[in-house]
Amino acid sequence: MKKVLIFGVTGQDGIYLSKFLLKKGYEVHGVRRRKSLSNSFRVDYINSTIFKKKKFFLHFGDVTNSLSVLNLIKKIKPKEIYNLAAQSYVADSFNIPKLTTNADALGTLRILESIIKINKRIKFYQAGSSEMFGKVVEIPQTEKTPFYPRSPYGVAKVYSHWITVNYRETYKIFACNGILFNHESPFRGENFVTKKIIKALCKIKFKKQKKLFLGNLYSKRDWGHAEDYVQAMWKMLQNKYPDDFVICTGKQYSIKEFINLVLKELKIPIKWKGKGIKEKGYTNNKCIIECSKKNLRPTEVDTIIGDYSKARKILKWRPKHDIKSIIRDMIDFEIKNI
Ligand code: NAP
Ligand code: GDP
Repeated sequence: MKKVLIFGVTGQDGIYLSKFLLKKGYEVHGVRRRKSLSNSFRVDYINSTIFKKKKFFLHFGDVTNSLSVLNLIKKIKPKEIYNLAAQSYVADSFNIPKLTTNADALGTLRILESIIKINKRIKFYQAGSSEMFGKVVEIPQTEKTPFYPRSPYGVAKVYSHWITVNYRETYKIFACNGILFNHESPFRGENFVTKKIIKALCKIKFKKQKKLFLGNLYSKRDWGHAEDYVQAMWKMLQNKYPDDFVICTGKQYSIKEFINLVLKELKIPIKWKGKGIKEKGYTNNKCIIECSKKNLRPTEVDTIIGDYSKARKILKWRPKHDIKSIIRDMIDFEIKNI
């Protein structure tokens, strides 16, 4: 039985990847951080019967601690390592840049150093991000598009990308970078805009919340489903040679377009009035959406759209979910919760 080790197992992608690998027959080991309370609702899902019956193990650790990383890899002896661990919220990275850099940049180096020390045959996946393209220099973005990060998070991910390439070339290890565009699901972190919008609008529909406060309604994102994207991670490590791949849908929507699609699905009528930060959304003359300066970022990634031709050709990967099925999946989950 193949053993894998997932750093960041308690996050959105960690859950989908674990589920996918367990179904493939892997023995899955995941690293969770020490917390004063249990790691939220996702861990309950991990501990549900689907996982219990299979080979799923949790270990305490932290990628900001070299010895913790080294000892875990030594103890578990995985064939594949997926590095999903990160402070992944772009807006917070402006407030906690050092912590973000320590986990998102140096965390990757700590794993790579452990691999070359313990066993160079361990395959490695690094969770790169479209945030590395930032202020995009070409449209659409491919594996060849130069990076221009716009946040401490993006800068840290660029470091991780290049150190992974460098260790691959220097030590001939099987290390891949996934350059994943935004991907969502019912398990998405609550701060991210898709989850925030869907959760609030579902509550507004059922009269459990009055208003939703957002920031920039006009940035555009290429949104996919996490379930599709974790399959691409695995496919990268099964390829004949290590390489880097853009994973996206090739379709783009603004935040406002996304909101309108959600409102349509929830059958809530909307009328937009005003411009810029003063723009508001009304339903039956009641304001339900407002913008607040507090939700704007010091530097923004205005537009992002990828081209996944390389992944389609080499990995035979393509996204199965479209924007509407992502929204439906997320709405169903929220409504069940309400
Ligand atoms: P997520 O839900 O925020 O999960 C991040 C995971 O990393 C959590 O398990 C978190 O643990 C863990 N973590 C944070 N700091 C750590 C540390 N110092 N040591 C060990 N673990 C640590 O993120 P996600 O959406 O699943 O994304 C997975 C990875 O892909 C991240 O690296 C993210 O930056 C990257 N990525 C995501 C997207 C996207 O759209 N989702 C796009 C491109 C790239 P806790 O549960 O304890 O907080
Ligand atoms: P990101 O692409 O990784 O930064 O993912 P997010 O979901 O956090 O943000 C996507 C886009 O939505 C960014 O351009 C944000 O500026 C924009 N946005 C607008 N209002 C909000 C808000 O209230 N919360 C968040 N998280 N993003 C918002």
